[in-house]
Order: sequence, then C-alpha cells, then structure tokens
Amino acid sequence: MNLRAFLSRRVVTPEGVRPAALLVEDERIRDLVTSQQVPPSAEIHDFGNFAILPGLVDSHVHINDPGRAEWEGFDTATRAAAAGGFTLLVDMPLNCLPATTTIAALEQKRAAARGRSRVDWLAWGGVVADNSLDIEPLAAAGVPGFKCFLVHPGIDGFTMVTEQQLRAALPAVARTGLPLLVHAELPGPIDSATEKLSRADWSNYQTYLQSRPEEAELSAIRMLLSLCREYRFRLHIVHLSAASALPELCAARAQGLPVTVETCPHYLRFTDEDTPKGATLFKCAPPIRNRENREKLWQALRDGIIDLVATDHSPCPPEMKRLDEGNFRTAWGGIASLSVALPVMYTEAISRGFSLSDIVRWMAEGPAKLAGCHAQKGSILRGYDADFVVFDTEGEFTLTKDRLHYRHPVSPYLDEKLQGVVKATYLRGRPVFADGAFPGDPIGREHRCSPSSASA
Ligand SMILES: [Zn+2]
Repeated sequence: MNLRAFLSRRVVTPEGVRPAALLVEDERIRDLVTSQQVPPSAEIHDFGNFAILPGLVDSHVHINDPGRAEWEGFDTATRAAAAGGFTLLVDMPLNCLPATTTIAALEQKRAAARGRSRVDWLAWGGVVADNSLDIEPLAAAGVPGFKCFLVHPGIDGFTMVTEQQLRAALPAVARTGLPLLVHAELPGPIDSATEKLSRADWSNYQTYLQSRPEEAELSAIRMLLSLCREYRFRLHIVHLSAASALPELCAARAQGLPVTVETCPHYLRFTDEDTPKGATLFKCAPPIRNRENREKLWQALRDGIIDLVATDHSPCPPEMKRLDEGNFRTAWGGIASLSVALPVMYTEAISRGFSLSDIVRWMAEGPAKLAGCHAQKGSILRGYDADFVVFDTEGEFTLTKDRLHYRHPVSPYLDEKLQGVVKATYLRGRPVFADGAFPGDPIGREHRCSPSSASA
C-alpha cells in the first residue's frame, strides 16, 4: 500500500496532544512528523480539528461466540467495537460454549472468529474448578491471561472457584507470568443479604443493590490480596464498583504487590438514583451504587489507583432482561456498551476536568498493557500498528438504537445526551468504520503479542 499521511491538529501521543501527521505504510505507523515534513509522495487525509486517538483496547468483552452467538457474536460485537473506536477486544472465557478453559475450546473460538471479526481480538483463558492442568498449555497457545469467578457467574458452562480451588490453580498461574482477572465478589455476603430480602419488592432497584452489598467485594478483595502476597501472581480486579475497597488496594500497591484495577463506564456515569422502577437494563454485577461512590471512583482514576476502564460489554437477548415484569432478581445482569463507551467516558471526563490523554491512558494504554500487547497496540508511536480513531470532540448526539450496532439494540444509555462522535476507526491502516458505515470485508484477526511485550 502507498504511503499515507493522516493529519490532525490534535494527535494524542504518549508525550501529549499536538498537531502531527501519522505516516502510515502498509499496516504500521512509519513515523510521526509535522505537516511540513510529510513527503510529497504521500496520500493526504487531513482531519483538521478532529482529534486522532490510538485505537481503543477493551480488555473486558463478552462476545459469547461460539455457542451463544444469538446473544452477540464476532460479527456484531466487532461491528459495535469499530463504531465505538475500539480496534482490539479481549474476549472473556465465559458465556461462549464451550467456555475457553481448554486448548480445544480456544481452537473452536478461533474457528468461530475466522472471517467474521472487524477488529483484532484476543481471548482470555478461564480458570475453573477443574482445569489447573490446562493453564500452562493455554498460556503457551497464546492467551494473554486468565479469568475466574469467586461467585456463581449467573450462567451454566463456567464454574466459580472456591479459595481452595483457586489455591490449586495459582502456582500454575504464577509460573505463566500472566495476569489473573478476578470477578471479586464472595457469595457469603450476597446470600445472607438476599435471604433477608425474600419478601422485598424486586422491581425496586434498591432491593437489588442491597442484595449485593459492598462487603461482598471487600471480602473478596481482601482474600485476593492475601493470596497475591502468598503466590505472587499478577492480580487484576475487574469491574470494581465498591469504592470502599480502594484504600486497601492502594496500600497493597504501595507495598509492591502486582495488583491492577479496572472499573466500567456504567459505574462512572450512572448512580442508583438513575434507575427507575423495573429498569432492569441497569442491572449488572457488582451493582451501580450511589453518587458519592461514583465520585470516589473518579477520584481513584485521578489518583491512578484504578488503572483502566473496560466496558464489560455483556449483551443478552432482550427477553432475558425481562423488561415487561421488571424483576431485578431474575433479569440477566449485564450492560452492552462497546459502541458508546468512548462518548460516555468523554462526556463524563471533560465535565470533571480530565483530558483526551487521560481517556487514552484508561481505555487504550492501560488495557493494552494488561493484555501484554502494549509494544504494538494502544499508543500512537513509530512502529506500532496503525490503529486509530478520528474523534469529533465538539459533536453532540442523543443516543438512538441505530448507533448501537450490536446484535440486540437495548441499552440503559438510550436517549442519553452525549458529547464526542467517532467519525472513523482505522485498523492496521484501513478504515473499518467511517461515517456510520463499515467499509470492506472483516479484516480483524487474533492478535499475537510480540515477545518483547509478552515478557513485560
Ligand atoms: Zn464480565
């Protein structure tokens, strides 16, 4: 492919936001230069005042394929990703069938993705009750890390682990040097709270919120930190909701424990007051908590205690949300947001004085580092994959179904007014989303981490 130059007055680089031209040759960024330095032979694409961000990386996505593609699937999830500015997704090992807990299952996932992915992808491996012997083979086969649940995941096909089962797996996890992502809620506090609520009104969001107390997260995180001290594996807490766990996480990091933390756009946008009676579209686990909690999560992003923001894109067929009965007990918990996470985060972040560089740190660099692909993805740097997003920071819109692009267009964000419009997304130098359309055949592929990043 010819040399092309992509110009903007605001290119978000690791050194800051500045006017620059990305010189792209084939699939890579050949160089970052001033507009005067663009070679005359280059084909020019000038985006003017629209910002150019690195392609976003989402380290927490449930693609549900193979096996539950009627919930989502590689074709629809990656279409939503491209529309949302994401160029690399890391798929969770559950909700698909088989769960990604063996090499054979990983091969089935590879077969399911072939020719159907519009962005690049990777698959986390699962740690379940009985697969400790599969952990090292999965690492050798290319998974960037592992995921486990300390509480029932709400779905068949993937088992939770008890502390004892986790202990059996941790030596193997530690030997791989890869991160273990943990859904950190313990069942004890949830079960005892739920028991007391058997006669409560489950169409009321507060009932659901009370059934998943902060104590469930806190006690899980305490246990994990102590296991991390003992086994020295890389611990990653997914979708932190309870801000009360932050001081202990902060202290553990100060002691040098290898712990990272993520939260999600829905915990940073919504509060319990935003959820009308029966509005099960807001159900997720752990739950969305109060306003004060939300602001503490933002403070933790400011302080660097929370490393990254991932979507936890977790769609289901709309009937599973049980919208007609509005029952928070029986409705599926999960919020799909790949296509809107960037505008949601941008809207909330600028209102609190954050910048595009912060968004890139949370939604590109941080997740790329977690998945071990930060030597090739997540930054605009010479030699990196030419993955980038053209983002109109001044554009505003009210979210409608036609902008969602995933399989089932339901969302708690519908009708929300958002700022920041994704104009185009480029994957390895080629447009995969432009002005509302998806040009060309799917060119996404499984990302192979280069050896330098895998060992970092
Ligand atoms: Zn999840």
